[in-house]
Amino acid sequence: MTLDPIFLQKLFTILGWYGVLFAIVLWLAVIRWTWQDISRRTERPAYRLLAALLPVLLFLPGVLIYLVLRPKMTLDENYQFSLEEEALLQTLDEYRVCPACEKPIQANWTFCPVCQTRIRSKCSGCGELLIPEWAICPVCGRQVLSSSTGGNSYISEHTDHSRDNNR
Ligand SMILES: [Zn+2]
Ligand SMILES: [Zn+2]
Repeated sequence: MTLDPIFLQKLFTILGWYGVLFAIVLWLAVIRWTWQDISRRTERPAYRLLAALLPVLLFLPGVLIYLVLRPKMTLDENYQFSLEEEALLQTLDEYRVCPACEKPIQANWTFCPVCQTRIRSKCSGCGELLIPEWAICPVCGRQVLSSSTGGNSYISEHTDHSRDNNR
């Protein structure tokens, strides 16, 4: 069986057009993907445009360059990461130790149960529990009295337990 050369030529023309069409669709898809991907990683319009230009100008090699250079974390992952960091800091805060006897104390404790040292004071404005090193109340902004003197300021107050424990 011999193939008609005209038929072969037509076949190659059609295949050629398929190739061109495929390349154009792939090019558009790649640009779209890059745009979506960079949009999840940065909010800066300039970065987004630069990232999208790579596949527009360079096609697939542009995507490779983009993959190498793109920000590692998406905005979602960034958010998750900061949440985890925050949770970790909170955990650390919960497992603080008494500044006087170094026994573990909990975040909501006002006094160390072991040595009776006052660990936290109460804000005179809103009643929020304050850590000694704080200069002002984070809730109402009231100045904390003698916060900069550290240890002694809260030890000296440790006689009035009953009043301060009725929170
Ligand atoms: Zn203690
Ligand atoms: Zn306050």
